[in-house]
Parts: sequence; C-alpha cells; structure tokens
Amino acid sequence: MRTGFEKILRKVLFIDIAEGMLLTFRTMFRHAVTRRYPKVKRPVKFGYRGLHALAKDENGKMKCVGCGLCSSYCPSKCIYIYTRDGEDHNKVVDRYEIEVLRCVYCGFCVEACPFGAIAMSEHYEYSGYCRDDFYMTKEKLLENWNKYFSGDKAEKYFEKIWRPKKDDFSGYEGQAVFKGIKKGEGK
Ligand code: SF4
Ligand code: SF4
Repeated sequence: MRTGFEKILRKVLFIDIAEGMLLTFRTMFRHAVTRRYPKVKRPVKFGYRGLHALAKDENGKMKCVGCGLCSSYCPSKCIYIYTRDGEDHNKVVDRYEIEVLRCVYCGFCVEACPFGAIAMSEHYEYSGYCRDDFYMTKEKLLENWNKYFSGDKAEKYFEKIWRPKKDDFSGYEGQAVFKGIKKGEGK
C-alpha cells in the first residue's frame, strides 16, 4: 500500500505514465496473439466438421440412396428425407434437407452413412438474415459438394477421417455405428 507521499511523488515524476509507456513499448515487439479476422483466418484442421454436403459419384450423380440411416442417428433430428419408389424398387430421393441451425455437428450422419453420401466440409463461415438461409436443401447440399470437395479432397476426406484403411466398408458391417452389433440383430 503506497503512502500519500509516494502517490504524489509518482504523479509529479510521471512514473505511472512512464511504466505504461514501457509496457506498450515492450508489447510492440511481441508476437500478436489475435488475428485480423476475417482478413486473417484460422487454418482449419483436416476433418473439421463444418457445413454439410451431399456427395456425388464420379459421374456426378448423387450418392445418397435415401436409406434414412443418417436421419435415424441424428441426435438433433434435423435431417429430413423424402423418397418415393422408382424403377426396380430403388428409392428416388425427392428431397434431402438439413436444418443446420439445429445441428450439433456431431458427425453421426457421416459416420452412419454406409455409402459415403454425406460429408461435412471445412466451411464454417455462414450467416444469414432468416432461418431459410440455414435450411439446406438437396440442391444446396449438392452445390456444397462442388464447392468444398473438389479434386481429390473428397477421397482423402473419406479415406483418412471416416474410413480407416483397416476397415472393410464394402458393406454396412464396417461402419462404426454397427460395431458390436451382431449381424441380423435389429437395433
Ligand atoms: S452432424 Fe449430428 S446433429 Fe448435425 S445433422 Fe449430422 S447427425 Fe445431425
Ligand atoms: S445414410 Fe447416406 S445414403 Fe442413407 S439417406 Fe443418409 S446420406 Fe443418404
């Protein structure tokens, strides 16, 4: 605790100001801990779970077959799939929608999908003025695939993050969500 005399002396000799200036001077040469966002962005780690995308095959066709597993596993129940019977009893996915404002970015949908049909991109900067902007339709999700999974990014994504090479993903049994469940048993 400073005495009254000390306080007056510090004021007369501008000691507080000098100490402040010294601190400022020392800090000027330190490495900045803040970023000038949005000009300088934080690098995203590989496997980051950002905005969703619906994957396309090499022919540009949507991979999703409308099985509904992603929707069943989604803890937020924010995936809506509308299908109808097509030729050869294959399902036709009329609508595939994700309400991303309710999503918790757990990645279960990606993990549950036996076909590698849904992915989570590294894109995290999305904002909007109304809820509709965050309602991802099939068209928007397919467009996200074009935007965020071009080149060999898609293959790397599924191989490194979601499909460890030791696992056989030719059938559903290899998927993490089915591990420990014996074949034939319902869930
Ligand atoms: S990341 Fe999780 S919460 Fe979001 S849509 Fe997929 S399963 Fe649902
Ligand atoms: S689990 Fe995969 S194939 Fe099935 S509906 Fe979801 S995204 Fe489509």
